[in-house]
Amino acid sequence: MINAYLSVLFLFFLFYSNLFGQEHPLVEIKDGDGLDVLFKRYLISKSPSNTQLFRELNKNKLDAGGGLILSKKYLLPIFIYDYDGKSIRSTLNIQDYDYALLIQHYNESLSKTGAKPSDFREDNKLWVPVYEFEKERVLTLVGKGKDTSQKAIKPKFRTRTFPILGKENEIVKERTHRLGGITFHLVTGHGGPDPGAIGQKDGNSLHEDEYAYDIILRLGKKLIQHGADVHFIVQDPNDGIRDEQILNNSYDEFYLGGSAIPPDQRQRLQKRANIVNNLFHKKQFGNQKHHVVVIHVDSRPTGKKQIDIFFYYAQGSEKGKKICDSLLETIEAKYHKAQPGRGYEGSVSTRNLYMLNNTIPPVTFIELGNIKNFRDQQRILLPTNRQAIANWLCDGYIKVFAK
Ligand SMILES: [Zn+2]
Repeated sequence: MINAYLSVLFLFFLFYSNLFGQEHPLVEIKDGDGLDVLFKRYLISKSPSNTQLFRELNKNKLDAGGGLILSKKYLLPIFIYDYDGKSIRSTLNIQDYDYALLIQHYNESLSKTGAKPSDFREDNKLWVPVYEFEKERVLTLVGKGKDTSQKAIKPKFRTRTFPILGKENEIVKERTHRLGGITFHLVTGHGGPDPGAIGQKDGNSLHEDEYAYDIILRLGKKLIQHGADVHFIVQDPNDGIRDEQILNNSYDEFYLGGSAIPPDQRQRLQKRANIVNNLFHKKQFGNQKHHVVVIHVDSRPTGKKQIDIFFYYAQGSEKGKKICDSLLETIEAKYHKAQPGRGYEGSVSTRNLYMLNNTIPPVTFIELGNIKNFRDQQRILLPTNRQAIANWLCDGYIKVFAK
């Protein structure tokens, strides 16, 4: 028994994964192991998310057919947290007692089978599977039911302050919990040195980034009201939600965390994707879901067909497509109701865009129209219209994400 234990220990390594700067267990495999067997050993499901992350983490260690190689060690789609010696909830900074209990049972099951070399209370290493969000399935895997001796803490409606939204809007009260447990990363197209597309109206230059930013702030406020956690990745120190038609142009936007927005497009996109991915990893626990929203107001192709709004998702992302479809459906229904007979044309498609391909959470990339186009300007210039777009997008997200 001791020998078996030692050999498991010997087979076992902990490592820092350089890929995301996040720690994952690094393990050896046994002869004949396939991904199914390996995942089963660590009590994680062979879901597309787990499989994809596994492949990303172990890019250069798979054979031509994508299979495992016996001599290699593999990083698992599990995060390692430093257990704080007090509780799982304080370690993960979560309130959810039931979920904490699942993580406890999960870790205990792993150390019982030897898959994890020792108890988390001994080695202070808590393993949290990246994608095992569905509590019921973890329960089945671990083979333990809910402990009903203690009640889960019921979240209260929070009132939070977001100075980024401007003086008149900064205090935001939650009205529902429909988007509870969901983190939205809101990304305004362009910003800083790059204004994006520029339209002209009565001698004024209309900068794309200012209008996209205003809509993003309005959307963010709505999402917060429904219990979501929101990160505004692009920030302007002095422009909150603005009710003017012509928005002042500025170049002083920066990134969440305070870093400058680089003039170089490639660097600019890399940086914002990295910020999102780092936040994702930092907050990735429990039933937290993440979603990225990118908003632009430009580059509408000037083809014959009138299209008001484009939704793009990442190639092969079923989740992304589902979200885009639902948003389109919601927006179209709202528009028909608000302006019967006018019609509203949208499209959902995939595109090869940096933000779609390089952020870990699913993305909806939204093009709201062409700021150079007179008809589109009407829609974007009226603050009530910008609010309507934000409201409808929020309703669309509620439809997709609400439990
Ligand atoms: Zn743009």
